[in-house]
Amino acid sequence: MDLTLSEEEREIREWVRTFVRREIMPLEPEVLARERRNERGLRAEELKALQDKAKESGFFGVHTPEEYGGMGLGAVMNALVEVELGRSFVQFKFGGDADNILYSANDAQKERYLLPTIAGERKSCFAITEPGAGSDARAIRTTARRDGDEWVISGEKTFITGGDEADFTMVFAVTDPDLHREGRTDESVTCFLVDRDMGWKSEYIDTMGEWGPASLVFDDVRVPHENILGEEGKGFALAMQWIGKGRYLLPARALGACERLVEMGMEHARNRVTFGQPIAERQAIQWMVADSATEIEALRWLVLAAAWQVDAGLDSRQSQSMAKLYGGVKANEIVDRVLQMHGGMGYTRELPVERWYRELRLLRIYEGTDEIQRRTLARNLLRGHASVRGHLG
Ligand SMILES: Cc1cc2nc3c(=O)[nH]c(=O)nc-3n(C[C@H](O)[C@H](O)[C@H](O)COP(=O)(O)OP(=O)(O)OC[C@H]3O[C@@H](n4cnc5c(N)ncnc54)[C@H](O)[C@@H]3O)c2cc1C
Repeated sequence: MDLTLSEEEREIREWVRTFVRREIMPLEPEVLARERRNERGLRAEELKALQDKAKESGFFGVHTPEEYGGMGLGAVMNALVEVELGRSFVQFKFGGDADNILYSANDAQKERYLLPTIAGERKSCFAITEPGAGSDARAIRTTARRDGDEWVISGEKTFITGGDEADFTMVFAVTDPDLHREGRTDESVTCFLVDRDMGWKSEYIDTMGEWGPASLVFDDVRVPHENILGEEGKGFALAMQWIGKGRYLLPARALGACERLVEMGMEHARNRVTFGQPIAERQAIQWMVADSATEIEALRWLVLAAAWQVDAGLDSRQSQSMAKLYGGVKANEIVDRVLQMHGGMGYTRELPVERWYRELRLLRIYEGTDEIQRRTLARNLLRGHASVRGHLG
């Protein structure tokens, strides 16, 4: 078994690591100060300038297939990139990315939605959650009623990331209420590409985090039939495909944050003297460091094992759920320890620790809560679809 990185993987990771250190981390004090003033941390023009700079070195569309002008990096490489980006709280992402399900678009839709999204000219959002349907996504009630060559969409979506900025949404609505009542969601839900100027409204939702999601309201919004993404009635599978696009990427980002946080904690512990000795000399603090480093290492291999399975074309769903669950739980424990190591300073808004504390909390909620991951993991095991021996058997 060879657990070393290839030459190419190492080179790409080093490039991203240097980019984060030289271009992104220096922005942190200003970004933090703006966020403290309730402004957007990284402004759109600054993000664009950083993305353009990265593009000059070929870093564009890290997830995007090469035929669409992207880098088409594999899952392991994507995870390694995400870890490096996670080391800063500045909300940077490389340009040239688009939602995976937009590749299911027909040629005309690709021209209007996929290509401009990759080019950074349009912004999308993914809308399935409703006030009455979160974990239980099959309980959605937004409807789309056929009227000639159009569909009329009515309902409300909530907690939609980027919903207040997007100029089109991929919205999921019930198109066959009879099948839906029978619980045949795999045939009753359709995904529509809906431009904002077709009439949906959004409202920002204030959250613990720095980037709030939005609620979207569809009040008899008329959408042409040609705006169905994929097939009529087959939307639920697309929604699951979107959510499953890379569950390992969320804990990968948190992993980078945890590495940085523990480094900050150790630095503080070496310098903070109490009762005549640096707190780093105290076993209570050393155990926090040791436990955190061990959990970071375990998370690293959960993330990379899941990503490796994706690249190998294996069924990675169990491993991805494990990485998401463990990452969410452990990142929250680690940031809490690091905050504790900093004492009162950890609780202030002078340091970014409390910011990470709030941000990492989300990982236990979105794209499948801890409880839903556990439900999936246990069901797969108890029904014999997965083994406690993992993919090695
Ligand atoms: C910041 C943010 C961004 C988001 N972005 C998006 C987005 O872009 N698009 C989108 O469509 N959605 C998005 N969501 C929605 C997110 O996916 C849901 O909030 C999440 O799936 C949980 O659903 P819920 O909030 O309705 O909680 P509920 O489903 O009501 O769950 C409440 C609690 O009950 C638990 N629970 C539920 N069912 C069970 C069960 N069977 N067994 C045991 N426990 C259970 C849950 O784990 C949770 O602890 C976002 C949410 C947030 C907070």
